[in-house]
Amino acid sequence: MISKSNIKIHQNQHLEMLIARYNERTKTSKKLTQTYRQFLADPRVQNGFNLTTKEMCYPIIGKSSKGSKIWDIDGNQYVDFMMGLGVNLFGHNPPFIKEALEEQLEKGIQLGPQSEYVGEVAEMISSLTGMERVAFANSGTEAVMTAIRLARTLTGRNKIALFSGSYHGHFDGTLAKAKIVDGNSQVVPIAPGIPSNFIEDVLVLDYGNPQSLEVIKAHENQLAGVLVEPVQSNMLHLQPKAFIQQLRHLTTASGIALIFDEMITGFRIHPGGAQAWFDVEADLATYGKIVGGGMPIGIIAGKAIYMNGIDGGVWNYGDSSCPEAKTTFVAGTFCKHPLAIAAARAVLKYIKAQGAGLQQELNQRTLQFVEALNTYFEKDEVPFRLTNFASLFGPDYTKISEFSQGLSLLPYHLLDRGIILRGSGGYLSTAHSDEDLDYMINAIKDSIKELREGGFLGSESDKYTKT
Ligand code: PLP
Repeated sequence: MISKSNIKIHQNQHLEMLIARYNERTKTSKKLTQTYRQFLADPRVQNGFNLTTKEMCYPIIGKSSKGSKIWDIDGNQYVDFMMGLGVNLFGHNPPFIKEALEEQLEKGIQLGPQSEYVGEVAEMISSLTGMERVAFANSGTEAVMTAIRLARTLTGRNKIALFSGSYHGHFDGTLAKAKIVDGNSQVVPIAPGIPSNFIEDVLVLDYGNPQSLEVIKAHENQLAGVLVEPVQSNMLHLQPKAFIQQLRHLTTASGIALIFDEMITGFRIHPGGAQAWFDVEADLATYGKIVGGGMPIGIIAGKAIYMNGIDGGVWNYGDSSCPEAKTTFVAGTFCKHPLAIAAARAVLKYIKAQGAGLQQELNQRTLQFVEALNTYFEKDEVPFRLTNFASLFGPDYTKISEFSQGLSLLPYHLLDRGIILRGSGGYLSTAHSDEDLDYMINAIKDSIKELREGGFLGSESDKYTKT
């Protein structure tokens, strides 16, 4: 039997070798990160900080991309599974988006006057999602913030319910979490700098738990809206269709806005997003990512009665009609940016032309990919399982008891073999080939083998890393 001290020596050697190899391969990314750290304050570097892996804690600096691949500043090629954090459904730089952007660049970037395609884009979003009216923002965060404001405007109530584990961007009004204080659940800001009065009207509930419906019922006269990430990107196994449908019945009966945050699910699970998938009509929905084709965008769509809070509602020329609905304040210099609108037009036309088969095929491929990996994990006794929702895959927390140190080193091994992930999962795009998927599967197998040789992920070493 290998002794604990031998395992430790073994593991340290493995780490040193991995760090040296990785640093050599990505030396310019590391060098530039260090050179500019004094000027560039970057939360994405700090988020992954760990003393053991500190020497590998820097972002890969991308130089170019095409299809499923990215090339970094040192000339290394990667099969990319981060895919712009969910933006690049069609891979990097697809010709139909590139052409639309080039055409618009040629014409200029007119801010102030309306972009010529904005009405057409709104109509396409309406026809794909079933939402009556559409408005534009620059990011998902802004779209969520505006949707909440619209719900509060129409209902005249202030409270918003959202669910633990969901992410809705970085608007102060959603940066709340539930915390048990003296046996009672309290809502507190998730980080310093967010005043608690920003979230005093927020309820944070358990997703998929029927008791949450009772809490909503108990607050029905104060709640303006319930904000839902239909399938949370960090909890992909939780796909509670019956709960969502009950939530719809309850919110309809109580006059509470049901707000679907479809930043990731929108146009991915189905052309009509999670609303179509779960057979639920929300009152308001927010979109972004895929629909912007790589340009920054946020979309607020919804029933006219809510959306009229932006412009007072529909009126006509040549008669006495006028904007009648109570309006709130919505603005933004860059909203309806001509480049974002041109890219969105190209994306939506493409999605419409392809039909639901595009998503069905990609989602099915993702499922098969995840199943192939899980079969391998099971056979090789790797304590890890994946699950997916549409073309997003990630850890299946119902089947993973804990992340050992070996597992947390896996993404570095994969980077070193030319694979970029999103955390411990990733996105498939229509640009990923069978060869790309095989490449990833083989890279995982090779990495696990090397980790085991280095004293990780074996029963003895697991015992060691847990102590
Ligand atoms: N909502 C969800 C579900 C998201 O996943 C994100 C971003 O990842 C956002 C909102 C915020 O979008 P953005 O980063 O464009 O502000």
